[in-house]
Parts: sequence; C-alpha cells; structure tokens
Amino acid sequence: TAAGEERGQLLFDVPEIRFTKLFINGSFVDAVSGRTFETRDPRTGGVIASVAEADKEDVDLAVRAARAAFDHGEWPRMSGSERGRIMARLADLVEERADELAALESLDAGKHPAVTRAVDVGNAAGSLRYFAGAADKIHGETLKMPGQFQGHTLREPLGVAGVIIPWNFPSTMFAVKVAPALAAGCALVVKPAEQTPLSALYLAQLAKQAGVPDGVINVVPGFGPTAGAALASHMDVDMVSFTGSTEVGRLIMKASAESNLKPVYLELGGKSPLIVFDDADLDMAVELAVGASFFNKGEACVAASRVYVQERVYDRFEERLAERMRSWVVGDPFSDPSADQGPQVDKAQYERVLSYIDHGKREGATLLTGGRPCGPEGKGYYIEPTVFTNVKEDMIIAKEEIFGPVMCLMKFKTVEEAIARANDTRYGLGAGVVTRDLDVANRVVRSVRAGVVWVNCYFAMGSDCPFGGRKMSGFGKDEGMHALDKYLAVKSVVTPLRASPW
Ligand code: ADP
Repeated sequence: TAAGEERGQLLFDVPEIRFTKLFINGSFVDAVSGRTFETRDPRTGGVIASVAEADKEDVDLAVRAARAAFDHGEWPRMSGSERGRIMARLADLVEERADELAALESLDAGKHPAVTRAVDVGNAAGSLRYFAGAADKIHGETLKMPGQFQGHTLREPLGVAGVIIPWNFPSTMFAVKVAPALAAGCALVVKPAEQTPLSALYLAQLAKQAGVPDGVINVVPGFGPTAGAALASHMDVDMVSFTGSTEVGRLIMKASAESNLKPVYLELGGKSPLIVFDDADLDMAVELAVGASFFNKGEACVAASRVYVQERVYDRFEERLAERMRSWVVGDPFSDPSADQGPQVDKAQYERVLSYIDHGKREGATLLTGGRPCGPEGKGYYIEPTVFTNVKEDMIIAKEEIFGPVMCLMKFKTVEEAIARANDTRYGLGAGVVTRDLDVANRVVRSVRAGVVWVNCYFAMGSDCPFGGRKMSGFGKDEGMHALDKYLAVKSVVTPLRASPW
C-alpha cells in the first residue's frame, strides 16, 4: 500500500500548533471563562498545547452563530452544486495539507503519521469529496395521492446539527459527520474529544478558506460533562450525531429526552468477532486477526477483540500468531517509521486497558503474548500487544469493550456454534469471517447481527459504504447515502388536482 511504502522512508516533523482557540462564527476566540485545558503527547505525557475550554456559555454562542447561519445565511439557500463546489475545494485543501494534518493528528493521538495520512486524512478527504458529489442530488418524490390530490416530498436541511466525536480517528470522525451535514445544508456545532481537539480546529479554518460561510461550522473543544452535555441538551440544536462509548450514548439520548426530543444518532462501542474456519488460508487469517485487533493500537470501535478459530486449525493458528507477534514493533511513531503500534491516547485509557489485562489474568485466562506496559524508559502510554487464550465467554475481557491492543482467542467446533457465540453479545458493530467456502461465508454474513461483515478482509471501508451498528452499538449510518437522511427532514406537500376539490 501507499502507506507501507511511505513508512519505510518518511519521518514526519512534529508540527507547529497554530489553532488552539474555539472556532465560533468564523473566528478563533477565547472561552468566555478564559479557561484552557491541556492536550498531551501520548508518547511522553508532556503538554502539546493549552486549548480554550468551552463550557455552556460558549456552546450557547456557537449554537447562536449556527442558528443565524442556518436561519438567515446563504448556506442552506445556495444551490446544491455550489455547496458541492465549496466542499470539493475543502477536500482539495485537506489533501494539499495532508502531511501537516496527519502530523498534528498523530501527535495528539499517538498515531503513526504515514498511516494517519493514508487512513484518517485520506478518509476525511474522501468523505468530503463523496458528499460534495451528493449535495446536488438531494431530491424528493412525487406522490399519486388518492382522490383529487397530488403530492410531493421535499427533503430539507434539518437545521443546526450537534456533532460529538471521539479521539480515536478525530479527522475522519469530523468529516464523516460534517460532510453529509454540509451537503444537506445544515449548520453545525462540533465538540471534539478533549484528548484530541487539534485536528477539528485545523479543519474548521480550512473550511473557511474553502469558502464555507462563517457560522456554518463551529468547533467547541471542551469536556464531555460540560461542553458535550450542553450541546446534547440544547433547546436550539435540531439533532445530535454522536460517536463514542455506549455509556455516554445513553446520556446523549437522555439529554435529548429531557430537552427538545431532538433526534440523536449513536455510533457506539463494539466487541466484534472474527471467525476463522478450518479451510482458511492460515497466514492470511493470522494477518487479518493481527490487523483487526491491533490496528490503531486497538483503539477502534470495530476492532476484532474476539477471534474464534475452528478446532482443527486452532493450535497451528495460535502458534503462527505467537510467531507473528514477535515481529510486531511497538514504538514512537515519529522517530521509528517501522513502529506498528504507538502509545494509547492518554493516561486514563492506558490505565483502563492495563486493568482489563489484570482482570483477564485474575479470571484465569492465559497470556500468549504481551500483557505489560512497555514505554521506552518507562515513559508514555505504551502497552504490549496482548493475546489471551483459554478465554471463557463469560469473562469480563470477552464481554466488555477494552479499546486497546487486547485480543481474546477462542476455539469453536461448528458453524452454528460460531454464529451463536458471535451473536452472544450486547453489541452489533462489525464482524469478520475467514473461509474459502462460499456457503459458510454466506451463512455467517446472513446470520451475524452486525452493521458490517467483512469476508476474507477486515477494516475495509469507503465513503460509499454505510457504517454503523445495531443493538447496543447504536443506530444510524455514517458514510454512504444513508448518512444524508440524518441531516434532512422530509416534508410532504399536498396540492389539489383541481382548483376547488371540495
Ligand atoms: P471514550 O470512552 O472513547 O473516551 P466517550 O464516550 O467518553 O468515549 O467520549 C466521546 C465523546 O463524548 C467525547 O467528545 C466526550 O467529550 C463526549 N462526552 C463525554 N461525556 C459526555 C456527556 N455527558 N455528554 C455529552 N458528551 C460527552
């Protein structure tokens, strides 16, 4: 892949931090309170920058700016093709600045800059371009009504969208929510995660450069219980699109229920299974399992944290997996281009993952690899990629989302058993199946209750590929034309066929 080639050669510079204030109505401003918070470098725990900290008053100002831009501004009123042109310009700018944006994102989130450029920034540009093309293809239906009436539907922009995003793929998350909202003609207030506020601010000023009018995109960095909660419970916000934990998803729904009943869309946690059948190409299966569990240090909502391997090949799979993990490099993604895995995003996540590993040990699972912190000189939030075997379905590590580099390896006998165990979870985000048998693949595809099923691949995504879960993984799709629906309201218009039908 492009990323693979680049990783051999490129070392990225640590970027200059230029944007650290709230972005409201087209300008960078301090918080009303004057308060700031620190965003830290996961490689060392050191401070990268102090960022203005939004609270309720700032969210109010941002919503007011978005409201004005929506109610009186040109964005919802210009033609779809004009919106699309501006969005395509933004996609171009994201691509032109890909190196800087990737470095910024990587610094903030502990990622590998070359991978970030290819994946996070690549997806962000892709999503903006996809929805740029959708902006002039939003139209309703004509209705043949009973009796002397006819009708049609309008698909109108819903209004002010509240967007609350997490820290694992910040620029992608920004784009997959902002792009369809912009295409629809909405105005937005975005609350990035407190761990990774920098890329959203960077993208907001690029949007301004591209020609997005002031007030259409506002960005309010801050904490969840303050800025996030203020947005979710705001009476003048017309919908909320959220990606994050199931726990906070519940709070977002509650905030809606207790305020203005705004529709909310939730992309939440997962405990996704990868099922390896005994006819699979084992080297490919091992490679897929490693990528599916450890890509982005396991900080991915669709990470395959449960890997089921059919009995007959289980021992061989385990052996090859242990062998493969010996060449997996954990290291500083800026100074070591060969690093496969950087540090976890922050101290809290690092400690949380280590406590899950402790649980696994205490519950009697066996460590095949990893299980310890591994920061160079004890610094930073690095954790060894960890594989547990002898995992029982009722252990905490097999049930709860860990969101770190921890794989639970389990054995199964039959297709029916694999399907039943894959579905034995409260979550329903992703799933993978590795087999050469088309019938088996089809059975799994049809039987697993998940938002996406990958066959002989994993993590493959695209701007046209709807993404979002079922069960306690949430509802509503990011990406694909379905995503537009979240930001549009359908209005039915009925007219008489004759002037006076009564
Ligand atoms: P994670 O556990 O992955 O950090 P969270 O669900 O805690 O995920 O965070 C995802 C996003 O939700 C972040 O932007 C965070 O600030 C925000 N958030 C956290 N708590 C709340 C809340 N009570 N109301 C609204 N947003 C919140």
